[in-house]
Amino acid sequence: MSDVFYRPTWVEVNLDAVAYNIAQMKQKLPSDSSIFAVVKADGYGHGAVKVAEAALQAGANALAVALLEEALELRHAGIKAPILVFGWVAPRDARIASEHDITLTFFQAEWLREVEAHLNSKELKLHMKWDTGMGRLGIRTENELKSLVEALQTADHINLTGIYTHFATADEDDLTYFIEQKKRFYHLLSVFNRIWGEPVDIHIGNSAASIRFPEKMHDFIRFGIAMYGLYPSQDVRNKQLINLKPAFSMHSRLVHVKNVARHESISYGATYITDHAEWIGTIPIGYADGWPRKLQGMEVLIEGKRMPIVGRVCMDQTMIRLDKEYPVGTKVTLIGKNNGDEIEMDEIANFLETINYEIPCMISERVPRIYVKNNG
Ligand SMILES: *Cc1c(COP(=O)(O)O)cnc(C)c1O
Repeated sequence: MSDVFYRPTWVEVNLDAVAYNIAQMKQKLPSDSSIFAVVKADGYGHGAVKVAEAALQAGANALAVALLEEALELRHAGIKAPILVFGWVAPRDARIASEHDITLTFFQAEWLREVEAHLNSKELKLHMKWDTGMGRLGIRTENELKSLVEALQTADHINLTGIYTHFATADEDDLTYFIEQKKRFYHLLSVFNRIWGEPVDIHIGNSAASIRFPEKMHDFIRFGIAMYGLYPSQDVRNKQLINLKPAFSMHSRLVHVKNVARHESISYGATYITDHAEWIGTIPIGYADGWPRKLQGMEVLIEGKRMPIVGRVCMDQTMIRLDKEYPVGTKVTLIGKNNGDEIEMDEIANFLETINYEIPCMISERVPRIYVKNNG
């Protein structure tokens, strides 16, 4: 979508908050631990290029994304830092990765052999993925590890620069499964160390693991949700191990304000009926912006006061019950701070019975992202 926008609905991304969150994490990490700023999914909906630049400036050492497309977007924006792709990339596309110095993830011997056939003289950097219990990507057994290492030893133009695993429950109070995954990881690592002589970067921690066990994260952490100022879970938040500042807020403006008589209905399906004469405001945001219909009944902030969404959320518009008349153009905050009150991402996530990660990701590209410094 174009950079010019006319509709008064926007997301503010505070890049100083991103820098602040990285600084908080760096304070906890040993000085020889490095940081992958995870900017997959367009920087969790915040804008990958802007967040990546801010993160690198704040001391992140490298970037990580899910897709080759996402890595190329960063390269095309002129970003030179190392980039790791977490997801599976087709062997025929490995050459594009090598040409742009993008590190890929691998876990299949057959994939390695196919990739070799597609490379030119440029070396491809790879991180090997171990599935210690997430059940998503990666090798699970000693035998698979041995055959991958064998395939690597005969591969040309391929450079193994890292190995990693991913935890399924690092954000939960109960550490039983986390400990089991660590056990499996260190078993595979002991096998690996016997058969591979070169040094590689090791990384195991997402935000939750890194916040809880910063001393035990090896060479890199993969810092995602907490970089954006959101806690990986309520359990992690409750521990008060780190102070985070949310980077994302979303706002709109009243574009129509009217007094509606008693017993009149609002929006599709006539699901809301006024009790008495009520002030109703309309804001230009709807489910096509990733503001779902399930948010009927959720509150928004106007002049620091909470007011409910009434009637069904439409594709492009939402109605609010106001406590009094407000002028057209009055600012409405849907996520974030407004005059001393705040609607946190966690509150929206709880209302929608999901996790905070999902909310900024689902706010669509139709809502422009405006980049601000520390003014709220
Ligand atoms: C998304 C992702 C992360 C980041 O996780 P957060 O919980 O957001 O910190 C780390 N590692 C992998 C493999 C991921 O896919």
